[in-house]
Amino acid sequence: MSELSIIYDHLRYKIVRRTRPLTIHTEALHKDSVWAAVRQWVEAGHKAVWYVLAPQNWDFVVAEMGVSLSKKEYEKVLLDRYRWLQANGQDIQAQVHLRILPQMYESEAEEKKDLEEKISGSIQWLKNNNFPVNKIVFGWWSSNQQAIGLAKKAGCEPIRRRDHYFIHDYDFVRK
Ligand SMILES: [Zn+2]
Repeated sequence: MSELSIIYDHLRYKIVRRTRPLTIHTEALHKDSVWAAVRQWVEAGHKAVWYVLAPQNWDFVVAEMGVSLSKKEYEKVLLDRYRWLQANGQDIQAQVHLRILPQMYESEAEEKKDLEEKISGSIQWLKNNNFPVNKIVFGWWSSNQQAIGLAKKAGCEPIRRRDHYFIHDYDFVRK
């Protein structure tokens, strides 16, 4: 990236921040401390677009966030909390974490299986639970043509980093 394109990116981001709705990527809503802070924020009358994980990203959550619940309990907690957000006027959309680098797949078959499980599976899970998602963000901005194709096939438009201003749910409890 040249210096000019970095400056351009920065300026563009400042405009996006002022003009687009606030977006929150959720990773740690299953944690009671994060959830308490989020609830308080919503109850104070704020609105946002929430890009949420589905249980298909369980491995990512275990590795990156830590979770003291079983997978089944985790799924129930997610559903309860997403439903509460939805009932309180918040816009629920999809987020998926793939492997951080495309070369982490050792065969095409492995890649195809993982992408389908994560992308098609997450979107399906959200829709089956009455969250009519039509937008998706890829965690770490890690995606490829195949991933984008699967998202679109499942009815979700991929949103790029520069197109929205976002924070994370855990920013609510950052010290
Ligand atoms: Zn993420």
